[in-house]
Amino acid sequence: MSRLPTPFVGLVLAVLVLVFGNAAAGDDNPTTAVAGASPSAVAPAHPRPTNPSATAQPPGAGAPVRKPRSRPNKPAKSRLTQRSQFRPSDKTAAEKSRSQQNADRPPADHGGTVYLTFDDGPSPYTPAILNILRATHSTATFFELGFRQANYPATPGRVRAEGSSVGNHTYNHPDLTALTPGQIRWQLSHGPRGRCMRPPFGATNPAVRRIVAQQGLREVLWSIDTLDWSRPGTAKIVKAATGPTVRAGSTVLLHDGGGDRSQTVAALPQIIRTLQQRGYVIRRIPGC
Ligand SMILES: [Zn+2]
Repeated sequence: MSRLPTPFVGLVLAVLVLVFGNAAAGDDNPTTAVAGASPSAVAPAHPRPTNPSATAQPPGAGAPVRKPRSRPNKPAKSRLTQRSQFRPSDKTAAEKSRSQQNADRPPADHGGTVYLTFDDGPSPYTPAILNILRATHSTATFFELGFRQANYPATPGRVRAEGSSVGNHTYNHPDLTALTPGQIRWQLSHGPRGRCMRPPFGATNPAVRRIVAQQGLREVLWSIDTLDWSRPGTAKIVKAATGPTVRAGSTVLLHDGGGDRSQTVAALPQIIRTLQQRGYVIRRIPGC
Protein backbone atom coordinates (compact mmCIF):
# COMPACT_ATOMS: atom_id res chain seq x y z
CA MET A 1 0.00 0.00 0.00
CA SER A 2 2.89 2.25 0.67
CA ARG A 3 4.22 1.64 -2.88
CA LEU A 4 1.03 2.68 -4.65
CA PRO A 5 0.55 6.06 -3.01
CA THR A 6 4.17 7.06 -3.51
CA PRO A 7 4.05 7.49 -7.30
CA PHE A 8 0.64 9.14 -6.91
CA VAL A 9 2.00 11.56 -4.39
CA GLY A 10 4.97 12.15 -6.65
CA LEU A 11 2.66 12.87 -9.53
CA VAL A 12 0.60 15.20 -7.47
CA LEU A 13 3.75 16.91 -6.29
CA ALA A 14 4.98 17.18 -9.83
CA VAL A 15 1.72 18.76 -10.94
CA LEU A 16 1.81 21.11 -7.97
CA VAL A 17 5.36 22.11 -8.76
CA LEU A 18 4.43 22.78 -12.37
CA VAL A 19 1.36 24.85 -11.44
CA PHE A 20 2.93 26.83 -8.64
CA GLY A 21 6.20 27.09 -10.45
CA ASN A 22 4.53 28.94 -13.32
CA ALA A 23 2.59 31.04 -10.89
CA ALA A 24 5.76 32.03 -9.12
CA ALA A 25 7.46 32.78 -12.40
CA GLY A 26 4.44 34.98 -13.34
CA ASP A 27 5.15 37.24 -10.39
CA ASP A 28 8.50 37.96 -11.89
CA ASN A 29 6.95 39.13 -15.13
CA PRO A 30 9.83 40.68 -17.07
CA THR A 31 7.49 43.17 -18.76
CA THR A 32 6.33 44.47 -15.42
CA ALA A 33 9.87 44.68 -14.24
CA VAL A 34 10.96 46.78 -17.25
CA ALA A 35 7.97 49.06 -16.98
CA GLY A 36 8.58 49.59 -13.31
CA ALA A 37 12.25 50.20 -13.87
CA SER A 38 13.77 53.64 -13.45
CA PRO A 39 12.61 56.28 -16.07
CA SER A 40 16.15 56.55 -17.23
CA ALA A 41 15.60 53.44 -19.22
CA VAL A 42 12.69 55.11 -21.10
CA ALA A 43 14.08 58.61 -21.27
CA PRO A 44 16.49 58.09 -24.15
CA ALA A 45 13.72 56.72 -26.33
CA HIS A 46 11.34 59.65 -25.54
CA PRO A 47 13.49 62.65 -24.66
CA ARG A 48 11.59 65.38 -22.88
CA PRO A 49 11.54 68.76 -24.53
CA THR A 50 14.50 70.69 -23.19
CA ASN A 51 13.29 74.05 -24.47
CA PRO A 52 14.07 76.41 -21.56
CA SER A 53 11.38 78.81 -22.59
CA ALA A 54 8.78 76.14 -22.17
CA THR A 55 9.77 75.55 -18.58
CA ALA A 56 10.46 79.25 -17.91
CA GLN A 57 6.96 80.31 -18.88
CA PRO A 58 5.11 82.04 -16.06
CA PRO A 59 1.80 80.68 -14.88
CA GLY A 60 -0.01 83.22 -16.99
CA ALA A 61 1.59 81.80 -20.07
CA GLY A 62 -1.22 79.33 -20.21
CA ALA A 63 -3.29 82.10 -21.73
CA PRO A 64 -3.61 80.42 -25.12
CA VAL A 65 -5.65 77.77 -23.39
CA ARG A 66 -8.25 80.40 -22.54
CA LYS A 67 -8.82 81.32 -26.14
CA PRO A 68 -11.00 78.37 -26.97
CA ARG A 69 -13.06 79.19 -23.86
CA SER A 70 -14.27 82.46 -25.38
CA ARG A 71 -17.49 82.16 -27.23
CA PRO A 72 -16.78 81.32 -30.82
CA ASN A 73 -19.46 83.77 -31.99
CA LYS A 74 -17.73 86.74 -30.45
CA PRO A 75 -14.80 87.10 -32.84
CA ALA A 76 -17.10 86.64 -35.77
CA LYS A 77 -19.37 89.43 -34.51
CA SER A 78 -16.51 91.89 -33.95
CA ARG A 79 -15.16 91.04 -37.35
CA LEU A 80 -18.51 91.94 -38.88
CA THR A 81 -18.69 95.15 -36.87
CA GLN A 82 -15.25 96.15 -37.97
CA ARG A 83 -16.11 95.56 -41.55
CA SER A 84 -19.28 97.60 -41.33
CA GLN A 85 -17.47 100.46 -39.60
CA PHE A 86 -14.55 100.53 -41.92
CA ARG A 87 -15.78 101.19 -45.37
CA PRO A 88 -13.06 103.13 -47.15
CA SER A 89 -15.09 103.54 -50.28
CA ASP A 90 -17.94 105.23 -48.39
CA LYS A 91 -15.52 107.47 -46.52
CA THR A 92 -13.87 108.55 -49.69
CA ALA A 93 -17.22 109.27 -51.22
CA ALA A 94 -18.23 111.43 -48.26
CA GLU A 95 -14.98 113.32 -48.35
CA LYS A 96 -15.29 113.73 -52.07
CA SER A 97 -18.75 115.17 -51.80
CA ARG A 98 -17.68 117.51 -49.02
CA SER A 99 -14.65 118.81 -50.88
CA GLN A 100 -16.75 119.05 -54.00
CA GLN A 101 -19.21 121.28 -52.16
CA ASN A 102 -16.34 123.47 -51.01
CA ALA A 103 -14.89 123.64 -54.47
CA ASP A 104 -18.23 124.46 -56.03
CA ARG A 105 -19.14 127.06 -53.44
CA PRO A 106 -18.62 130.47 -55.01
CA PRO A 107 -16.97 133.18 -52.89
CA ALA A 108 -20.16 135.23 -53.13
CA ASP A 109 -22.00 132.66 -50.99
CA HIS A 110 -20.00 133.89 -48.05
CA GLY A 111 -19.84 137.38 -49.44
CA GLY A 112 -16.73 137.66 -47.41
CA THR A 113 -13.42 139.36 -47.46
CA VAL A 114 -10.76 138.66 -44.84
CA TYR A 115 -8.08 141.26 -44.32
CA LEU A 116 -4.61 139.95 -43.59
CA THR A 117 -2.28 142.51 -42.05
CA PHE A 118 1.48 142.28 -41.51
CA ASP A 119 3.19 144.45 -38.91
CA ASP A 120 6.70 145.59 -37.97
CA GLY A 121 8.33 145.23 -41.41
CA PRO A 122 9.71 145.62 -43.89
CA SER A 123 12.09 142.74 -43.34
CA PRO A 124 13.85 139.97 -45.23
CA TYR A 125 10.58 138.00 -44.93
CA THR A 126 8.45 140.58 -46.71
CA PRO A 127 9.38 139.52 -50.28
CA ALA A 128 8.45 135.89 -49.50
CA ILE A 129 5.08 137.04 -48.18
CA LEU A 130 4.51 139.14 -51.29
CA ASN A 131 5.32 136.11 -53.44
CA ILE A 132 2.71 134.03 -51.62
CA LEU A 133 0.13 136.79 -51.93
CA ARG A 134 0.78 137.07 -55.63
CA ALA A 135 0.60 133.30 -56.15
CA THR A 136 -2.77 133.17 -54.39
CA HIS A 137 -4.20 136.29 -56.10
CA SER A 138 -4.40 138.00 -52.74
CA THR A 139 -3.40 141.38 -51.33
CA ALA A 140 -2.75 142.54 -47.79
CA THR A 141 -1.92 145.58 -45.67
CA PHE A 142 1.58 146.08 -44.32
CA PHE A 143 1.89 148.32 -41.25
CA GLU A 144 5.53 149.24 -41.48
CA LEU A 145 8.00 151.04 -39.25
CA GLY A 146 9.82 154.18 -40.41
CA PHE A 147 13.28 153.08 -39.34
CA ARG A 148 12.90 149.68 -41.03
CA GLN A 149 11.82 151.27 -44.28
CA ALA A 150 15.21 152.96 -44.24
CA ASN A 151 16.83 149.54 -44.21
CA TYR A 152 14.66 148.14 -47.02
CA PRO A 153 13.91 151.16 -49.21
CA ALA A 154 12.72 149.12 -52.18
CA THR A 155 10.18 147.02 -50.31
CA PRO A 156 7.35 149.58 -49.80
CA GLY A 157 7.37 150.30 -53.52
CA ARG A 158 7.04 146.62 -54.32
CA VAL A 159 4.22 146.22 -51.80
CA ARG A 160 2.21 148.97 -53.50
CA ALA A 161 3.11 147.81 -57.00
CA GLU A 162 1.61 144.40 -56.28
CA GLY A 163 -1.70 145.79 -55.12
CA SER A 164 -1.10 145.64 -51.39
CA SER A 165 -0.84 148.73 -49.24
CA VAL A 166 1.50 150.25 -46.67
CA GLY A 167 0.24 151.63 -43.39
CA ASN A 168 1.92 153.75 -40.72
CA HIS A 169 3.09 151.80 -37.65
CA THR A 170 5.12 154.79 -36.34
CA TYR A 171 8.84 155.34 -36.64
CA ASN A 172 10.21 152.88 -34.05
CA HIS A 173 7.29 151.17 -32.32
CA PRO A 174 6.74 153.05 -29.02
CA ASP A 175 3.65 152.84 -26.83
CA LEU A 176 1.93 155.99 -28.02
CA THR A 177 -0.21 156.25 -24.89
CA ALA A 178 2.98 156.91 -22.90
CA LEU A 179 4.13 159.76 -25.12
CA THR A 180 3.45 163.48 -25.14
CA PRO A 181 1.29 164.88 -27.95
CA GLY A 182 4.43 166.28 -29.58
CA GLN A 183 6.16 162.90 -29.46
CA ILE A 184 3.10 161.18 -30.90
CA ARG A 185 3.06 163.65 -33.79
CA TRP A 186 6.77 163.09 -34.38
CA GLN A 187 6.32 159.28 -34.46
CA LEU A 188 3.51 159.55 -36.97
CA SER A 189 5.23 162.09 -39.21
CA HIS A 190 8.43 159.99 -39.33
CA GLY A 191 6.52 156.80 -39.94
CA PRO A 192 5.71 155.41 -43.38
CA ARG A 193 3.46 157.34 -45.71
CA GLY A 194 -0.05 155.97 -45.78
CA ARG A 195 -3.69 156.68 -45.11
CA CYS A 196 -4.06 154.26 -42.21
CA MET A 197 -2.09 153.79 -39.03
CA ARG A 198 -1.90 151.03 -36.45
CA PRO A 199 -0.71 151.97 -32.97
CA PRO A 200 2.11 149.71 -31.69
CA PHE A 201 0.83 147.06 -29.27
CA GLY A 202 -2.66 148.23 -30.19
CA ALA A 203 -2.20 150.78 -27.43
CA THR A 204 -4.48 153.73 -27.98
CA ASN A 205 -6.69 156.20 -26.15
CA PRO A 206 -8.75 159.29 -26.94
CA ALA A 207 -5.66 161.53 -26.95
CA VAL A 208 -3.84 159.27 -29.42
CA ARG A 209 -6.93 158.94 -31.61
CA ARG A 210 -7.36 162.72 -31.70
CA ILE A 211 -3.79 163.29 -32.93
CA VAL A 212 -4.07 160.42 -35.42
CA ALA A 213 -7.17 162.05 -36.86
CA GLN A 214 -5.46 165.45 -36.93
CA GLN A 215 -2.68 163.89 -39.05
CA GLY A 216 -5.29 162.73 -41.57
CA LEU A 217 -4.85 159.08 -40.62
CA ARG A 218 -7.35 156.35 -39.85
CA GLU A 219 -6.64 154.12 -36.88
CA VAL A 220 -6.87 150.39 -37.72
CA LEU A 221 -6.68 147.65 -35.12
CA TRP A 222 -7.51 143.96 -35.66
CA SER A 223 -10.12 141.39 -34.73
CA ILE A 224 -8.00 138.22 -34.76
CA ASP A 225 -4.58 137.97 -33.16
CA THR A 226 -2.60 134.95 -34.35
CA LEU A 227 0.21 135.54 -31.80
CA ASP A 228 2.58 134.58 -34.59
CA TRP A 229 5.22 136.87 -33.13
CA SER A 230 5.60 134.41 -30.21
CA ARG A 231 6.51 131.66 -32.70
CA PRO A 232 4.01 129.13 -31.39
CA GLY A 233 4.49 126.82 -34.39
CA THR A 234 3.09 126.93 -37.89
CA ALA A 235 0.08 124.77 -37.07
CA LYS A 236 -1.06 127.06 -34.25
CA ILE A 237 -0.67 130.14 -36.43
CA VAL A 238 -2.80 128.50 -39.11
CA LYS A 239 -5.39 127.47 -36.54
CA ALA A 240 -5.60 130.97 -35.07
CA ALA A 241 -5.92 132.62 -38.45
CA THR A 242 -8.57 130.22 -39.71
CA GLY A 243 -10.48 129.50 -36.51
CA PRO A 244 -14.25 129.67 -35.99
CA THR A 245 -14.10 133.37 -35.09
CA VAL A 246 -12.97 134.27 -38.60
CA ARG A 247 -15.83 135.83 -40.52
CA ALA A 248 -16.43 138.27 -43.32
CA GLY A 249 -14.65 141.49 -42.50
CA SER A 250 -12.20 139.94 -40.04
CA THR A 251 -8.85 141.66 -39.76
CA VAL A 252 -6.08 139.19 -38.98
CA LEU A 253 -2.88 140.30 -37.24
CA LEU A 254 0.34 138.75 -38.52
CA HIS A 255 3.94 139.94 -38.55
CA ASP A 256 6.54 140.14 -41.28
CA GLY A 257 9.07 141.98 -39.08
CA GLY A 258 10.48 142.09 -35.59
CA GLY A 259 12.30 138.77 -35.56
CA ASP A 260 12.30 135.31 -37.06
CA ARG A 261 9.08 135.15 -39.07
CA SER A 262 9.75 131.88 -40.85
CA GLN A 263 6.75 130.27 -39.08
CA THR A 264 4.49 133.03 -40.33
CA VAL A 265 5.78 132.60 -43.88
CA ALA A 266 5.33 128.83 -43.62
CA ALA A 267 1.78 129.21 -42.31
CA LEU A 268 0.63 131.75 -44.86
CA PRO A 269 -0.10 129.48 -47.85
CA GLN A 270 -2.28 127.21 -45.71
CA ILE A 271 -4.05 130.17 -44.10
CA ILE A 272 -4.94 131.66 -47.46
CA ARG A 273 -5.86 128.32 -49.02
CA THR A 274 -8.14 127.45 -46.09
CA LEU A 275 -9.89 130.81 -46.15
CA GLN A 276 -10.29 130.69 -49.91
CA GLN A 277 -11.78 127.20 -49.69
CA ARG A 278 -14.39 128.67 -47.37
CA GLY A 279 -15.20 131.23 -50.00
CA TYR A 280 -13.33 134.21 -48.61
CA VAL A 281 -11.14 136.51 -50.64
CA ILE A 282 -8.01 138.00 -49.11
CA ARG A 283 -7.68 141.72 -49.73
CA ARG A 284 -5.94 144.79 -48.40
CA ILE A 285 -8.03 146.98 -46.11
CA PRO A 286 -10.04 149.37 -48.28
CA GLY A 287 -8.98 152.96 -48.00
CA CYS A 288 -5.56 152.16 -46.56
ZN1 LIG B 1 3.91 146.20 -34.12
